[in-house]
Amino acid sequence: MTELTDLGIKAIRDGVVGGSFTAVEVAEAFNAAVAAANPALNAFIVTTPDHALDAARRVDAQRSAGETLGAMAGVPIGMKDLFATKGVQTTAASHILEGFVPPYESTVSQKLWDAGAGMLGKLNLDQFAMGSSNETSYFGNVISPWRRADGGNAPLAPGGSSGGSSAAVAARIAAAATGTDTGGSIRQPAAFTGITGIKPTYGRCSRWGVVAFASSLDQAGPMARDVTDCAIMLGAMAGFDPKDATSLDLPVPDWAGALNADLRGVKVGIPREYRMDGMDADVAASWDQGIAWLKDAGAEVIDISLPHTHHALPAYYIIAPAEASSNLARYDGVRYGLRELPEPGSGSGTSGAGLQDMYAATRAAGFGDEVKRRILIGTYVLSAGFYDAYYTQAQKVRALIARDFERAFERCDVILAPTCPTAAFGLGEKSADPLAMYLNDVFAVPASLAGLPAMSVPAGLNREGLPLGLQLIGRAFDEQSVLNAGLAIEQRAGFNAKPETWW
Ligand code: GLN
Repeated sequence: MTELTDLGIKAIRDGVVGGSFTAVEVAEAFNAAVAAANPALNAFIVTTPDHALDAARRVDAQRSAGETLGAMAGVPIGMKDLFATKGVQTTAASHILEGFVPPYESTVSQKLWDAGAGMLGKLNLDQFAMGSSNETSYFGNVISPWRRADGGNAPLAPGGSSGGSSAAVAARIAAAATGTDTGGSIRQPAAFTGITGIKPTYGRCSRWGVVAFASSLDQAGPMARDVTDCAIMLGAMAGFDPKDATSLDLPVPDWAGALNADLRGVKVGIPREYRMDGMDADVAASWDQGIAWLKDAGAEVIDISLPHTHHALPAYYIIAPAEASSNLARYDGVRYGLRELPEPGSGSGTSGAGLQDMYAATRAAGFGDEVKRRILIGTYVLSAGFYDAYYTQAQKVRALIARDFERAFERCDVILAPTCPTAAFGLGEKSADPLAMYLNDVFAVPASLAGLPAMSVPAGLNREGLPLGLQLIGRAFDEQSVLNAGLAIEQRAGFNAKPETWW
């Protein structure tokens, strides 16, 4: 028998609309699954079963009253703890925001509630969304529900920064989840856990009420069971918002309604620079398989060049920390969350601790090591003596990368590449080496720097029994081509592997 928690967005919404089950039954099933799994997985920082139930009761009442139900009616989701939620603690997985209860709701979460979704809880993440393994969270790492087929029970990383989101969706304890992607944080965790996630064009989803990491890159998006669910949820999340100056003033297309896996007449580009020396053999094989699937769907596949690809990662790791160092200046112990006072007599002023000492003590205690590393790098690359050598250069590289894509999209409609260089790695395997960790993002950051829509879809399992993702990158504003090519892969991959329940 299919459990309600096995269902995704479309199946739940259609079932609620059609009367196969009530929204309250669905919310209760997911609330119970969260309560049972969270002690082991640590996917949620706080759970909000009443939020999910209240939303479900409203949907059931609307249905009884004969009202039209929203696109996410009765769907219980997890909310990455980077989105401000009114009356519910919002921490960005940091100590400095511990106990911060926003008096307002982010635009994206409000849109999801307006569409009929309910919240199961706030999902764990890398602190301030900085990381690729969810190990930088102040609230402890998330454990991936997946395990290697032959590798004992070594705990694996769920990816990051949206690692609570990926783990919860993969473990079937949330029907879907929000993610944010600054340099891969939707796509990489989706790939690691065998789920689907799309980062839309920069500006599609409002950043208002989303804790800022690197504002010129941050973009929200859905993480869900499949392409159709992503299309539905993205439609509910996207839209112009006057409260975000970079919000796109464009209508939201009916992506779900226009899904079409027939790729005749579509040209798919294969970027030769992504085929790196020493590439993981299983990743290379899944990329070749993806090419074959897209050909089978009718697409014409061509070789393309994105010549500045190898400069993308260094440019990202200058621009993102630079913006972070500025964005995180607001956490000073005055307005939000934590306030630490230095020991009496230890201050720099003559009459004891001064304001600067309070700032310093708060930030020293409130930020984790990775966040401090980014603030230091960001402050350094923006300092008077180094600004031109680092920040200005990185901005020039960013323009060249965007131009590479523009040229490529004169010849093709969508680009196919792996999402990540490897499958999920073990917790602790890379946490001592920031550079090894940053290399995870090598295939993800170019599309982020160019602001383009990009999605990860599950393509199969590697020889260790772990999921691999394929990435589709599209022209600005053309999420539809990305979703369509993703659907063509999904239909052919027939990916239905699930982690075995051990929690
Ligand atoms: N892993 C990347 C980083 O640490 C991307 C993070 C993100 O997209 N939020 O910066």
